[in-house]
Amino acid sequence: MRNLFSGLALSAALTVSCAGIASAQSGVTVIEAGKVLAVPGQGYLTDQSIKIEDGKIVSLSSGYSKHAAGTRVINLRDSYVVPGLIDSHVHMTSEWSPTSRLKALSDSEVDAALDGAMYAKRTLLAGFTTVQDVGGANEAIFSLRDAIAAGKVDGPRMRASGRAVTPTGGHGDSNGFSPALTKIFSGPNACNGADDCRRAVRETIRSGADVIKITATGGVLSNTKAGLEQQFYDDEIKAIVDTAAMMGRKVTAHAHGKGGIEAALRNGVQSIEHGTYLDDETIALFRKHDATLVPTVLAGVTVTGWTTNGWLPEASREKAAVVGPLMQDMLRKAREGGVNVAFGTDSGVSKHGINAEEFVLMVNAGYTPEEAIKAATITASIHLEMDDHVGTLEAGKFADMVVLREDPLQDVRVLQNGISMVVKGGEVYRP
Ligand SMILES: [Zn+2]
Repeated sequence: MRNLFSGLALSAALTVSCAGIASAQSGVTVIEAGKVLAVPGQGYLTDQSIKIEDGKIVSLSSGYSKHAAGTRVINLRDSYVVPGLIDSHVHMTSEWSPTSRLKALSDSEVDAALDGAMYAKRTLLAGFTTVQDVGGANEAIFSLRDAIAAGKVDGPRMRASGRAVTPTGGHGDSNGFSPALTKIFSGPNACNGADDCRRAVRETIRSGADVIKITATGGVLSNTKAGLEQQFYDDEIKAIVDTAAMMGRKVTAHAHGKGGIEAALRNGVQSIEHGTYLDDETIALFRKHDATLVPTVLAGVTVTGWTTNGWLPEASREKAAVVGPLMQDMLRKAREGGVNVAFGTDSGVSKHGINAEEFVLMVNAGYTPEEAIKAATITASIHLEMDDHVGTLEAGKFADMVVLREDPLQDVRVLQNGISMVVKGGEVYRP
């Protein structure tokens, strides 16, 4: 980890891994695996013994040898093993449905946290052992993150932003409710002018954010006809980035329109979520600033399906019809232009647990299965500043892995329907 992600969450995660592995007989587990994609991008290692202690990988060695008495041995000699998958863009405490807007009126943050516990387990069993949550009710999401780290709830390791910092009336604000409800739902995350945005960042960090998410442009699912272009002024974005940096946080920007993506990149935002309208100039800026794109094509496909089923209010329906079809093409352009891409789905828009559908969309956009897996492991781990701990299967990292019955490099859909086991911190979960 090159930067603080959450000292508290991390130390809790370490503690829990120790507790988890204590249930094995000797404290040492050896996984015997036929094919191991230890470092995605470098192909398979064959016939490996992966030694695990205290939730972490101690060693990988070739061949299957005799083990000390009391060692727990898991025979996966016929299986394929890849590092635990990482989804860089989820909303763990909610899931879109025709009644989502009603839930905002009826549910407490406790309800949201309990929903999140259910979705977190679903996500873990789908092979995602680490996620970044970029926008959820603050108390619910930070409590869920910490409960997972403390071993109270089964779920992926989590880095979380809490509510997005947004302009008033912007994509991250509360829109389309009556004036009285808008007053209640609109939070301290809404800001106007550079000074006020510094305040919003500081309050977000104080409430528990590991990373700052901003809404640099309009968005599809906010119930407002405010377009998909730039919504923060340049000086506001710069103030947000500088303030976050002072407190050791990176900034990621929700952005669809070209002007908004470029404003974010030019003012030091480290990553872009969605990126729908990027073009050659935008791609050049990504490369110049060494920024990362989290494409979330699955969200585009999902909302396209909602343009005719009555799920969306009119303002959102109009935007969904435009954005959805553009996203696949966006990812193809980004790949061909050499943009650094970290895997992300926007799950919560799509259903939790089908995150791996994004792999199919990435392959459709030109990625090889191994490149797509690399985006969901090594690249995403660096994007989340957790690459010292997850992303590859190497000594010293958490024993997070996905076990597959068939070869995902031959058919990436194996990641959707061929999981036989998920291992997180040395603990075994079976879907
Ligand atoms: Zn999102």
